[in-house]
Amino acid sequence: MKAAILLPGERSLKIDDVPITEVKPKQVKIKVKACGICGSDIHLILHGKMKATYTPCIPGHETSGVVTELGEGVTKFQVGDRVVVSAGTSCGICDKCLAGKENLCEQIGVLGFNQRGGFAEYLIIEERYLHKLPESIPFEQGAILADAVSTPYHALKYQGELKKGENVVVIGCGGLGIHAVAIAKALGAAHITAVDIDQGSLENAEAYGADLSILLDKNIQLGKVLKEKTKGVDVLADFSGHMSNIESSLRAMNRGGRIVLVGIGRSKLEFPMPFFLIERQIRITGSYGSDSRAIPELIQLYEDKQINLSKSISGVHKLEEANEYLHALEDKKGNPIRFILNPEL
Ligand SMILES: [Zn+2]
Ligand SMILES: [Zn+2]
Repeated sequence: MKAAILLPGERSLKIDDVPITEVKPKQVKIKVKACGICGSDIHLILHGKMKATYTPCIPGHETSGVVTELGEGVTKFQVGDRVVVSAGTSCGICDKCLAGKENLCEQIGVLGFNQRGGFAEYLIIEERYLHKLPESIPFEQGAILADAVSTPYHALKYQGELKKGENVVVIGCGGLGIHAVAIAKALGAAHITAVDIDQGSLENAEAYGADLSILLDKNIQLGKVLKEKTKGVDVLADFSGHMSNIESSLRAMNRGGRIVLVGIGRSKLEFPMPFFLIERQIRITGSYGSDSRAIPELIQLYEDKQINLSKSISGVHKLEEANEYLHALEDKKGNPIRFILNPEL
């Protein structure tokens, strides 16, 4: 099959023919119809800041397609089913996995990083990672449910415990943060503030329902501005990974507020106002990927017309164009949200 592969030490993808592995028991073979390009693919492919654990690596963790073959013992899917594949991989047998909390599994991984992903004509994968995609959801929008939409959903709904009528701040409105804005809207947030260093990303956030946008630069004290312009913050979700934003925002948090860290950064998190944190009972929590609840609940929100992701698809391209669009995503040319690869083109 044709695939976009990453060889060790390379800083670009190569299109090549790779042998298709056999379909083992409990596995399903999927003809890939769409696979999103994520920011983490930029770190993996262009910068080598993240590493794959196998070679040749086939990246791609936002995959949708059609089932073409069933392994022995597959019970929940039929040939011809439209499906979306979870981005997270896990052991499938520990207590956390059996309870449907796969992102708490000790062996958590990411499709494409520790096993073959969706930048290929076919993907062979365990049945337990699949979700049926209704006809109403195009493959491109279905694909991005796997990470770009489900990761912020888990962060806001389950780690942030966002309730109707609360005030939300989203810091960093790239491919994931932008969907936090859409989800906050869908979950009934009273007021949504979008924060970014890029004007184009803020325009995207406004299109998805942000009530206020703040262009961040060195002269802005974020916490002060949030305090002045909002009625305090109940849930703050950070996709930027810059901990100085968190320290600054602390003063704007309401009693019982939740700060959810999603963006991965290396800076230190210090607490300039520890009493404030204690007395207001502010919680700071991490959020990583999502669990078995996210994709089915998002499909329901989509069918209930609470979310629409058509604005998120910035273009659909051939596998051969993968390198070009990795660079275009990094350069933010034309305010892209998600570029999709379709191996059939
Ligand atoms: Zn991703
Ligand atoms: Zn497990």
